[in-house]
Amino acid sequence: MIFFAAIALAFCPQLDEEETKPEIDISVGCKTCGFMGAEDCDNHGRLFEAEQGVDYCWISAQCKDCSGTLLTDCIKCESGPLYIKRQRELGKQERFSESTTQPATLFKRELPRILSKHFDICATAKKMKNGSKNMDTHQLMHAMATECEASATLFDEHFQAQPHNYSNRARLWYFTDEKDHKEVCVEILGSNGGTDLKFYGVNPAVSSFSNGYGLGNDALEVVRNAVHVSIHLMLSSVHQVGWIGNKKAGWFDVGAAHWYEDKLFARIATYCIDEANSGVHYENGKWRAAMKKHLRKNKDYILPKLTQLTSGVLEEEQHALAWSLYDYVVANHPDALKPMLLGYKNNVESRVLFKKHLEMNIMQVEGAWRAWVAETYPVKDPKTRKKV
Ligand SMILES: [Zn+2]
Ligand SMILES: [Zn+2]
Ligand SMILES: [Zn+2]
Ligand SMILES: [Zn+2]
Repeated sequence: MIFFAAIALAFCPQLDEEETKPEIDISVGCKTCGFMGAEDCDNHGRLFEAEQGVDYCWISAQCKDCSGTLLTDCIKCESGPLYIKRQRELGKQERFSESTTQPATLFKRELPRILSKHFDICATAKKMKNGSKNMDTHQLMHAMATECEASATLFDEHFQAQPHNYSNRARLWYFTDEKDHKEVCVEILGSNGGTDLKFYGVNPAVSSFSNGYGLGNDALEVVRNAVHVSIHLMLSSVHQVGWIGNKKAGWFDVGAAHWYEDKLFARIATYCIDEANSGVHYENGKWRAAMKKHLRKNKDYILPKLTQLTSGVLEEEQHALAWSLYDYVVANHPDALKPMLLGYKNNVESRVLFKKHLEMNIMQVEGAWRAWVAETYPVKDPKTRKKV
């Protein structure tokens, strides 16, 4: 037995060599390309990985060697798995490049654009500060795509959502020029926006600008804003189209937007214009220690009132309370998030939703939430991110 096994082993390598030797099978490429049919395009430098993470990048699509597929053909053959992948990608890139974004049509000029799993991003900011370095438009858009997709992945888990559960990709438009932003607000979104304008519905969108009067010329601030706002937009377009911020569910709408912002950046600094409190910075955006202290000191019931308000009327401190309540639900009742959101979209009151999905009345939820905050929130907040 051992003898036969030894013979078999001795012959095996030779047999293998025989099989793969000179003649070329057109389904598997050739020796030059390592039987792959194509190789990675060298023109994308540090952004290569970021490019792989998006469906379409207008700038990468202009690459003369790969046309945005990130693969270059083998010079010797036209076959192999990556050759087939490249052909498929070329078709996809072509389809994307034929579609256009509404601001580009309006301005009659091409605009930098990235399409990712959940987002349709367009930005015109020329140069932004990011920590001690600068970022150009292309880098900024990729940073936006990377961070927004990271928070969308969490959001998908929380709301048991797949791409087909969204009515559409959320459109994130960040302009340098206030004039461009104003024009987009009036001509496309149909309203006179302030420094930012959100548009809920089947095709959700946000338009904003960043020359200092709107958002600062700082990549962290702009990207953080995009993460926060994209949560409002996704909440409105997932599972069933409808904005809950104008119902008695402001705590859920605002609390969620702050929650994903904090999760990624460990600091909350975005207050939307329609949340009536632009420019406020409750406890410098670090809310754990502040909430722990606040709830310990203030014993009056909070939730009966908080769960009656719309997004637009929440005051500074109520933003933090809303965030903390959402934090409690994520940590303790994650399966309740989706049915609660759908309930709010269908005008069901908190009283009914809490009973059904948290199995407690509002007072009991308040008790459980307070106990959880007292037990788990630290006395000192974690360190915040300084750049994207
Ligand atoms: Zn080849
Ligand atoms: Zn790119
Ligand atoms: Zn390339
Ligand atoms: Zn907001």
